[in-house]
Amino acid sequence: MGVYLPILSIVIPCYNEEEVLPETVKRLLELIKEDIKSNKISSDSHMLLVDDGSNDLTWQIISELGKNSLHVKGIRLAHNKGHQYALLAGLENASGDILVSIDADLQDDISVISKMVDEYKKGNDIVYGVRSSRETDTLFKRNTAQGYYWLLSKLGVDVIYNHADYRLMSRRTIEALKNYGEVNLFLRGLIPTLGFKSTQVMYARNERFAGESKYPLKKMLALATEGITSFSVTPLRFISGLGFSVFFISMIISLWAAYSYFIEGSAIPGWTSSVLPMYLLGGLQLLSLGVIGEYVAKTYMETKRRPRYLIMDKFDSSSTEA
Ligand code: UDP
Ligand code: MG
Repeated sequence: MGVYLPILSIVIPCYNEEEVLPETVKRLLELIKEDIKSNKISSDSHMLLVDDGSNDLTWQIISELGKNSLHVKGIRLAHNKGHQYALLAGLENASGDILVSIDADLQDDISVISKMVDEYKKGNDIVYGVRSSRETDTLFKRNTAQGYYWLLSKLGVDVIYNHADYRLMSRRTIEALKNYGEVNLFLRGLIPTLGFKSTQVMYARNERFAGESKYPLKKMLALATEGITSFSVTPLRFISGLGFSVFFISMIISLWAAYSYFIEGSAIPGWTSSVLPMYLLGGLQLLSLGVIGEYVAKTYMETKRRPRYLIMDKFDSSSTEA
């Protein structure tokens, strides 16, 4: 036989994506077949579609398409666990030598996958897909995202600017990732901490091909909080610092109060000076408790050691079992 050809698995989390799936699978199939033909990847290469507990026809479509092609595999989660977990389920269960994760909605330019494979062959273990511009985003999303990346880097979280979850990972980085048992999952923050040799490829992002965003503001905020609290203890330190400063200031005020009472004898029992600190300290304490509570909640979730996803169905028409 000739040269070694890596098996490529394209991992795609899908939540209620009946409108885009047929087209996505069609285009990715073309890409896979082309790269097989040009001897870039093994003929066992495939896509692994992860149905994240959809309540539309997503799973029916996946299994239907899977029957017709050896290059289409599927996993169905028993619940809607959210994008990060669906992605993790896919990464942990895909069998390829190289895994590329991509969204189902064709927003990410799929032709970049071949470039990622080229970079892998040059010896990179992780290849990050980085958006060259955010033109197709709303003004709101663009600004909040940019501000968020800035905040993350200030808080010491190692993120790749303008990279979401479109990336290639080698088998050994996936095996490394499997050792991370954390429940609070923020993959795009976690993967850079793995180390390994990595590089970036740029691409332009399109509009969603069809259907609506499955990331409403609420889910986006949850992911954003996850990104901070699962990587950074800076908020805790900030609170400690704030608490210390306020304590220091109130010491000075107390001294001043004592001075005016005992030495000057001019102190009139003031309403403001007693009520203001009450509010100030009350507010501060609540704020601190809130932040601490956030971390306690995380600790609580982690100590449960619950499985992070449950697979309900699975098919792989290329294997002999089943
Ligand atoms: N997704 C998922 N589970 C969810 C929400 C989203 O698996 O609970 C998938 C979705 O099907 C898509 C990807 O995550 O493949 C990104 O979602 P979407 O494109 O809606 O997010 P946006 O691009 O609007 O941020
Ligand atoms: Mg999208």
